[in-house]
Amino acid sequence: MADANHFSGSSTSARDAAAEIAAKFSAAGFTAYFAGGCVRDELLNLSPTDYDIATSATTEQIRAIFPKARGVGESFGVILVHHKGRVVEVASFRADGRYVDGRRPQDIQMGDEITDANRRDFTINGIFMDPATGKLIDHVRGKQDLETKTLRAINDPDARLSEDRLRLLRAVRFAARFELTIEPKTMAAIRAHANELRGVSRERVGQELRRMIAHASRVKAIELIESLGLASSALLEIAPPTLLRRVRALQQVSLPSPILAHNAHEISTQLLATFLSAWLLDRESTLPWQERVSQWTSALVLSNKERDTLTSTLFLLTRVPEWPAFSKAQRKRTAANPSFHAALRVHATDAPELVQRILGDYAQLEIEGIAPTPLLCGDDLLAMGLRAGPEFRVILDAVYDAQLEGSIESKKAATDLARQLSRT
Ligand code: ATP
Ligand code: MG
Repeated sequence: MADANHFSGSSTSARDAAAEIAAKFSAAGFTAYFAGGCVRDELLNLSPTDYDIATSATTEQIRAIFPKARGVGESFGVILVHHKGRVVEVASFRADGRYVDGRRPQDIQMGDEITDANRRDFTINGIFMDPATGKLIDHVRGKQDLETKTLRAINDPDARLSEDRLRLLRAVRFAARFELTIEPKTMAAIRAHANELRGVSRERVGQELRRMIAHASRVKAIELIESLGLASSALLEIAPPTLLRRVRALQQVSLPSPILAHNAHEISTQLLATFLSAWLLDRESTLPWQERVSQWTSALVLSNKERDTLTSTLFLLTRVPEWPAFSKAQRKRTAANPSFHAALRVHATDAPELVQRILGDYAQLEIEGIAPTPLLCGDDLLAMGLRAGPEFRVILDAVYDAQLEGSIESKKAATDLARQLSRT
């Protein structure tokens, strides 16, 4: 996620914008604090992704001060305030009502700062800061838990984790990302409610998992998901306990970065596919991998691009062991696949020597060109007077193979070969 202090085109930092908004509330006689993740991140010397404000002003009072503010999820009392090119979430102090569906409170009631701190999930996320003075207002002993690196549910862990089951995964994400030890009662509650993750919206489960894998703490996160018994309800797949051999070994594998990935989004899709492939192979199953990809795709609501990248990585993993027996054309076709490097990374956890050898071969092939523009295309075959049909593909593939092998180098040679093939 973007750093709140960059990329917005605003000359005011997100922090300053939020502090100025809070000052306007104070001037009008209300309490307004920085709340949640931004306070936690600042105490950890990290750059918050965004600044949230909690205030004693009601929704109407927020609107009276910022008439242009827009509501998001109005019933949850969150208002977006635009200020100096920044957008800050402002929410009234509240107490969540009864949870009925394991995800959202049925209603919310206005509350004070104490009820508001206490409706939050983990103590490290429940600290307020007065931006005017930098003073911490800590009703949940979050500061102490941050200092001792402890993840602890606020109040009764059992109730907190059953009322909103997404917290099961949030716990893992925070524990992994900030290297926290999960406090025993919180840990026991996570285990006790692990199966209830099944009922959580699959988009949200996928989103949490994506965020975990995007972060450097990804291996720790996957280990926690497995060790806390969350894997089968996250992936909707039963498997025996796994040592996560490949996932762990991936940390040690460093390969030249995939030059075929052109942008950050593509790189994060490759990274996701790399770790999901390793994880999928670590989890033993008798089902064919193609079926498991479909299963994981629905469990995590993977995008088409994510699913295709996972599929091609796993497909290549079935091919790569055959590399020594491949013809040059087969090697080039394999190496031209955008998931080639992802597959090599995963395969290096099984056969590091073979992968080193493949990388050597790859460097050679790259000099010749791995995916040159074909000498011949369908239009050329039509121009030769051939009739369009399924054999076009066969002929073009054979001609391209010859080109990749280096046995033909000119369009003339390609045309001759095509003519010869069309007669057989
Ligand atoms: P990050 O944005 O880095 O993932 P964050 O703590 O800011 O972490 P958000 O989802 O942005 O997480 O939520 C902001 C704050 O709202 C949290 O710090 C927490 O206090 C509260 N919060 C968010 N989601 C929940 C939840 N499911 N249950 C209880 N409190 C929550
Ligand atoms: Mg946040």
